[in-house]
Amino acid sequence: MSTGKINVAVENIFPLIKKFLYSDHEIFLRELISNATDATTKLTHLSSLGEIKGDLGDLTIEVKVDKKAKKVHIIDKGIGMTQEEVQKYINEVAFSGAEEFLEQYKDSAKDSGIIGHFGLGFYSAFMVSEKVEIITKSFKDEPAAHWSCDGSPEYTLEASDKKTRGTEIILHIDKDSKEFLEDSKIRELLTKYNKFMPVPIKFGTREETIPLPKEAPKEAKAETKTVDNIINNPNPAWTKKPADLTEEEYKSFYRELYPMQFEEPLFNIHLNVDYPFNLTGILYFPKLSNDLNVQKDRIQLYQNQVFVTDNVEGIVPEFLTLLRGVIDSPDIPLNVSRSYLQADGAVKKISNYITRKVGDKLNSLFKKDRKAFEEKWNDIKVVIEYGMLSEDKFFEKAESFALYPTTDGEYFTFEELTENLKAQHTDKDDKLVLLYASNTEEQHSYIVGAKNKGYKVLLLDSPIIGHLIQKLEGSKEKITFARVDGDTIENLIKKEENKVSKLSEDEKENLKPLIESVVKESGYTVQLEAMDSDALPFVLTQPEFMRRMKEMQRTGGGMMMGNMPDMFNLVVNTNHELVGEILNTKTAKKRERLILQALDLAKLSQNQLKGEALTKFIQRSVEMIK
Ligand code: ADP
Repeated sequence: MSTGKINVAVENIFPLIKKFLYSDHEIFLRELISNATDATTKLTHLSSLGEIKGDLGDLTIEVKVDKKAKKVHIIDKGIGMTQEEVQKYINEVAFSGAEEFLEQYKDSAKDSGIIGHFGLGFYSAFMVSEKVEIITKSFKDEPAAHWSCDGSPEYTLEASDKKTRGTEIILHIDKDSKEFLEDSKIRELLTKYNKFMPVPIKFGTREETIPLPKEAPKEAKAETKTVDNIINNPNPAWTKKPADLTEEEYKSFYRELYPMQFEEPLFNIHLNVDYPFNLTGILYFPKLSNDLNVQKDRIQLYQNQVFVTDNVEGIVPEFLTLLRGVIDSPDIPLNVSRSYLQADGAVKKISNYITRKVGDKLNSLFKKDRKAFEEKWNDIKVVIEYGMLSEDKFFEKAESFALYPTTDGEYFTFEELTENLKAQHTDKDDKLVLLYASNTEEQHSYIVGAKNKGYKVLLLDSPIIGHLIQKLEGSKEKITFARVDGDTIENLIKKEENKVSKLSEDEKENLKPLIESVVKESGYTVQLEAMDSDALPFVLTQPEFMRRMKEMQRTGGGMMMGNMPDMFNLVVNTNHELVGEILNTKTAKKRERLILQALDLAKLSQNQLKGEALTKFIQRSVEMIK
């Protein structure tokens, strides 16, 4: 038996490990299982090179909890270590065995998926243990070794009588970490971090029903047998080639990733690069609701099948955090801070690549089956519009597939839209006015009004559309977006036409104060317009600029408008018969009733008539038809 002191650096490192290095104590299990997985993949690699002869046998890694003895065991059947190797790899902390292994087998090791660069991986065991033991036997014909350390720099290293190849790590869990002696806790951690590790991991056993033979009598009872409970899927879909996967397999992998998601994804994007960095993964487009805050199932980031995080902000572009799926890259550094990740050059490249790839996929889906793409538009538009807003490269790319639907269910690209509307929607300054609605129910009468005049009305209803409209107006020449209820249609699209007013200037001058005196309470700005005689007598409009700014402020950004009240204009149609009647009515009482009635009708069509005002309107209406 030998005893010794782990080199000087460790003396300072131990308390560091315990307190500061890993804020997340639970990752000890991920680290130890990663080591066990490494040891196993190294073994299969050596075997494939012919350096180990014969059958390797079962390679399952096992995790055991011994609650009574307060111990957790992690047992692998990998390459193991000789006493010398323990001395070297375990005691000389800074020395990364994985690194040396890689040096030795440089090129051939590339594809065998060795999880390295975990830094102080093994020592993270001390975050939860008062004592750690290693019992290990190398694949080489040498005696087994037993290492033991209680967290101080002193350790013991002696021979062991372990006969079988591999390593057993025994953690004597300290009293502050009792939670890790619960089966349920360990199961939770295994599922979180090791669900897709490349070597099978056993945790306990489970009962499995043995299927009855076909010819078995009806009353025969199915028997059960006890089988190993394997908690991971060592061959997740993203590690396979797209050509080897069916649509159904992609979907079933989605269910594996998000067992609580019952809605199927709309489509997926299989990522696969090996130059200038390595990255694989599958991204799914889920059906998204308009409420962007309810996003809880997120993209998961892996490093060689080891779960790293599901907080991928800064690693994938923000708009893609609305997607689901996995990204796996050995080039993503582990155990480093988020700000470091965000500044990392490799990470930036990864982010750009993913953006491009998503753009390409959307483009090809659009080209391949436009009809199907249009049908999905409503469910995917938020991601695309968000991307167009936040990534200029994506904005350019999306030119070919971003759609602008009309309230009649037609879909145009921006180019088609401008081409199609050119003749009708151009105003006298040669500007193209794109009429839009954000809600077909609430703006119904305005939409109908515009359509009756032969205009097409777009339906743009995502929560961030205000920002996108702003960006489009800024980047395209001579276009302007106008919501149908922003003004009268005559004012929204100004043509060279002579508006003929039925009222004389004198009459108009009389009319305005009459109306203002009745509606002054409401705060509306009264405005006289010579509209078509079949348009409504009174129309409420909300000026585009203010409304848009307020909307944008609500969804982030835009000018600060404080808590300004909504502003509405009350447009009085001087060509309407009723307006003539208001002017010519003899009694003030009747006039007031007509004005209030016309005002309430205008409010109704803006969805603004509520409560007491609505009750009064109904009573007045009943009076009038009596
Ligand atoms: P890293 O894995 O980043 O190299 P660790 O501190 O986790 O750092 O491990 C140090 C070294 O100890 C490993 O590189 C490996 O050579 C050896 N080692 C750790 N765990 C095992 C194991 N289960 N089987 C064989 N060797 C191991």
